[in-house]
Amino acid sequence: MSTLEVLAASKLAPMYATPLAARYTLYPHDLDAAALAEAAPRIRAIAASGESKVSAALINSLPALELISVMGVGYDGIDVAAAKARGVVVTHTPDVLNDEVADTTLGLMLCVARQLPAADRHVRAGLWPQGPLPLSRKMSGARLGLVGMGRIAKAIARRAQAFDMAIAYTARSAKADLPYTYYDSPAKLAAQSDFLVVITPGGAGTRKLIDAEVLRALGPNGILVNVARGSVVDEAALIAALQAGTIAGAALDVFENEPHVPQALIDMPNVVLAPHIGSATVQTRQAMVDLALGNLAAQFAGQPLLSPVPECRA
Ligand code: NAP
Repeated sequence: MSTLEVLAASKLAPMYATPLAARYTLYPHDLDAAALAEAAPRIRAIAASGESKVSAALINSLPALELISVMGVGYDGIDVAAAKARGVVVTHTPDVLNDEVADTTLGLMLCVARQLPAADRHVRAGLWPQGPLPLSRKMSGARLGLVGMGRIAKAIARRAQAFDMAIAYTARSAKADLPYTYYDSPAKLAAQSDFLVVITPGGAGTRKLIDAEVLRALGPNGILVNVARGSVVDEAALIAALQAGTIAGAALDVFENEPHVPQALIDMPNVVLAPHIGSATVQTRQAMVDLALGNLAAQFAGQPLLSPVPECRA
């Protein structure tokens, strides 16, 4: 077994954990305190997922730590400032999941607009002979507002163009090279959108960016789709807006307190729910694992890292 020692930050998917354990001495995330203290001086890397939490306390308890390799593009659970302060580099897996998350987003938009999960339930419950479902709504040609215009948003926009959607966005800055309409706030964008799709990072900078005011601006015919992080949407405000008919519906892949989903959302027929599956295909997860392992291998070989997070780029 390799003498290189790596700590798992959380329970990792077997697809990531198995090759890690084959290459390195891999400690599980739930190592007891005594065993962790014994191994701490030798642990050179943390292997994390996009949902892992890596605190300053953990980082500072590992004196030999060099790298935190996140298998995911979002790294809002990692205390990057604490890592940087210690000279520890954080890497993630951007780009290789753009297509998948964009495909999932268009799928969720179609599911909520055309009520496909309800249609499936209708047939399975044997209700078709009793009559048709209520008419649903058209997605092609509708107005799409993207909150965030990064790697994944661009892939969503390209797909939406094939649906003849009118595309607008908000971000921290306007993108002069893109043909889409820019609004300088989520509320202004929401007022001009039929579908408001949230695809920003999580963390302090975007916490509750989608609040009651944005939902009011989206209006009674508007649909919210969140594929970013649960923290970006004020979930209580969203539930209130759905219950009051302030907005028409929602499709949600992410939640404030995963894997727990508020019963109020489960009970609403105009909401489509998914268990954080944006990138969850065999092909895309393998590409993410390969990149996360590639960053570890590069670090241990003294080679340039493949995909450090922006804060850790030289
Ligand atoms: P990215 O390329 O870094 O793009 C992020 C975009 O968000 C940028 O356009 C940025 O604006 C914008 N943004 C950041 N803070 C903002 C704010 N306060 N207000 C408005 N816009 C803001 O990231 P990406 O690769 O597209 O990934 C985006 C996120 O998707 C990830 O961080 C992750 O949280 C989420 N995600 C979810 C899943 C899933 O399974 N559901 C899978 C993958 C990723 P500027 O361009 O102006 O800087």
